[in-house]
Amino acid sequence: MSGQTGSRTRRLVLAALLAIAVSAHVQRVARHSPSFVQVTEGAYRLTQHWYLLPGLTLPIPVSVGLFRGDKGWVIVDAGTKNNRRQSHANNLVKAVQAAIPAGERVAAIALTHGHHDHVGALVELMAAYPDAPVLLHDQEAPFLFEGKPYMVPGSLDARKYQWFDMDWPLAKERFHIVSGKSGSLDQFASGLSFHLAPGHTPGQIVYLHKPSGVLFGGDILTLIKPKLSWGEAAAAQSDNRVVAAVLGLVTVRSFPFHVLHAPVGDLRLSEKSACELLGSLPFDKVLLAHDFSKAKVWTAESAKAWAAAAPECQQYRTA
Ligand SMILES: [Zn+2]
Repeated sequence: MSGQTGSRTRRLVLAALLAIAVSAHVQRVARHSPSFVQVTEGAYRLTQHWYLLPGLTLPIPVSVGLFRGDKGWVIVDAGTKNNRRQSHANNLVKAVQAAIPAGERVAAIALTHGHHDHVGALVELMAAYPDAPVLLHDQEAPFLFEGKPYMVPGSLDARKYQWFDMDWPLAKERFHIVSGKSGSLDQFASGLSFHLAPGHTPGQIVYLHKPSGVLFGGDILTLIKPKLSWGEAAAAQSDNRVVAAVLGLVTVRSFPFHVLHAPVGDLRLSEKSACELLGSLPFDKVLLAHDFSKAKVWTAESAKAWAAAAPECQQYRTA
């Protein structure tokens, strides 16, 4: 009896310590004022942490890309909105203004898709850069302009992910709508192209910027299933699958390695797109919108290795 009480007390103390550590971490991250960091020559990313639900302890990283092109700068995606606790949209606009030297222009705002966490600062960015067109695929347009919902209305997914839907008006005349499977965007930046990656949403596109060798992959892949393990802090230091280690007691590890797909949209089609594009496009580095790894960038080597080894990709592999 007393042994059981003792172990219950230990568990309660452990839970309380964990809650304190996580809360301190959350406060620290929430106060952080972000800026763009260089990924490679001509390509940058800004990552802010999104607290999806009050009390949710694992913040979701949301990255926005920035390419330096020969005709101006290209902003890729627009992150999350301002909310009561976090000024994500304001932070993003300030960070773009700080990253771009005075007198240089923004050639385009390039959207991968219309989910809430990719268009959050779109209105603010369009106001800050009134001459910059917004790039979008025509398969994605009905969700942004006609109020088409991403999930089946009334379904459990629709209720869980209702915040994915666009809920504010946009000036359609500012948009440059692309169509087809892929195409050049040389008129905005030499060597920039888009590639359709349907599945996560019907019209998601990824952007390849040849001069920097960076592929901005949006939500083509997303780590979504963390795996908890206990007491492995020493190993955690050298394990790049580890996304958080708390007090040397609990380790949060991505499972199986880096990525799984978001639980929205057409999973099979999403896998097909990820396998085909990561297996075939000529890139050096991949930026994902939600990357829980410390580096927040994939090398071509690790992305191609993923595509070659992932069980999801077996059926798409040609002999
Ligand atoms: Zn998405």
